[in-house]
Amino acid sequence: MMCLSENVEKGSQMGRRVLAHYVAGTFRPGGDTFPLIDPADGSVAGRVPEATREIVDEAVRAARGALDAGWGATGAEERAALLRRIADGIQARFEEFVDAEVADTGKPRELAATVDIPRAVGNFRAYADLLYARPERAYTTRIPGWSAGTGQALNYTVRRPLGVVAIISPWNLPLLLLTWKVAPALASGNAVVAKPSEETPSTATLLAEVIHEAGLPAGAFNLVHGHGADAAGAFLTGHPGVDAIAFTGESATGAAIMRSAAEHVTPVSFELGGKNPALVFADADFEAAVDGTVRSSFTHSGQICLCTERVYVERPIFEEFVAAVGERARKLDGYGPMISAEHRDKVLSYYRLAVEEGATVVAGGGVPVFGDDRDSGFHVEPTVITGLPPTARTVREEVFGPICHIAPFDTEDEAVRLANDSPYGLAATVWTRDLSRAHRVAPKIETGIVWVNCWNLRDLRTPFGGVKASGIGREGGEYSLDFFSEPVNVCIQI
Ligand code: NAD
Repeated sequence: MMCLSENVEKGSQMGRRVLAHYVAGTFRPGGDTFPLIDPADGSVAGRVPEATREIVDEAVRAARGALDAGWGATGAEERAALLRRIADGIQARFEEFVDAEVADTGKPRELAATVDIPRAVGNFRAYADLLYARPERAYTTRIPGWSAGTGQALNYTVRRPLGVVAIISPWNLPLLLLTWKVAPALASGNAVVAKPSEETPSTATLLAEVIHEAGLPAGAFNLVHGHGADAAGAFLTGHPGVDAIAFTGESATGAAIMRSAAEHVTPVSFELGGKNPALVFADADFEAAVDGTVRSSFTHSGQICLCTERVYVERPIFEEFVAAVGERARKLDGYGPMISAEHRDKVLSYYRLAVEEGATVVAGGGVPVFGDDRDSGFHVEPTVITGLPPTARTVREEVFGPICHIAPFDTEDEAVRLANDSPYGLAATVWTRDLSRAHRVAPKIETGIVWVNCWNLRDLRTPFGGVKASGIGREGGEYSLDFFSEPVNVCIQI
């Protein structure tokens, strides 16, 4: 088996993993490297190569070469079979993937084993299934039709790949979010150059191994490691040979990528930040709403783009709700760290800002003391605050940590207004037993996703994405295939 993650003795100067780029079907270690930090205890866990402009250029040329050699014209059946082999390959090395994801992110093992890695397998299976179910969406024709006008014509639409696609992913759900784009991009016949987050490069590297073993033609999938701004990420997104960019990350990064994409009018699909509201009505199942809010605010220590940071509660149950969520937050244990010292410091700066802005701290607000190795890691306490006005920065800006602000409301209209009073619009959660209210409120909320009496319940065929500063476009099911392919209409006068 090709092995790009060279295991070196733990505790040695080099740490335990040495990663490599994957370009034109070969693994490329070497060059300048940077340390991979274990966020659970702050130790050096490995070394990651930093891609130069030349490596990125080589990867883009390799991708173009794969297209020229016919990758984009392969049949849907063949591509579906490859996607299934990739899914099987991840499944066969499941524990290895879980270990790598936990090591890079510090997230609880259960989360990686029940969400991250199974969803990565699911992403490849879902698009393999979709190719069988609707091959014309990604490959050949739509239903031919007759058009009126100056004469009779037969119109049909061919979908062809976009070409070379750059995929840039973040650190919070590293393999899940990378494969969420790689699977539909390959399903549609594109050649991919991917750059995972510099904080969490390990499962992407394992994925390259799996893809290599699955027999994807050389150059159809390439992986380059490195940082974002003025580095591998920017070299890739600004490359004139890139035909489209699919990016998940911060809104400010999306804006920077959009500026460089503008130069070549490169199409973008953006999944960006959020400041997600939850609306809790007095008629809700109280325990379910408390439980759901604790999950939606504190899963992966708040480091999921869909996490709730603003909770609005109908006044009759406000005090009781705040007390219940506060108590549950204080009792949480086994939660993971922030991804890095830098991110820990950013989250703590918001904890301080909240107090300066006049918040009442109901739970948390500081750094936990464990009395073991974790004390050198990047943990912060799950935090519940109240008492801030809608204009407070802590209520408007994405913290991306385990913090939620809870505020009361009196009417349904006010709840909707508060939810929409945000520069972001990714996801919302509504807790109510009143079905009519749920149907009335949900479409009024300016987000791409609204969950009613649940959170993060996902069907991979549904549209996923945000409005306002939370993104551009939708991914998921056929929405992704739409982005990753170009419709070409052929009109024949008859
Ligand atoms: P980030 O924007 O800092 O980095 C994301 C990726 O972009 C990394 O691979 C990074 O190296 C790269 N990058 C950074 N600057 C770049 C540049 N100038 N040009 C090209 N590439 C560049 O985001 P992050 O801190 O890794 O992730 C957290 C953010 O992602 C949060 O805002 C979160 O809400 C968001 N997110 C959104 C979704 C979604 O589906 N909407 C999902 C997960 C995370």
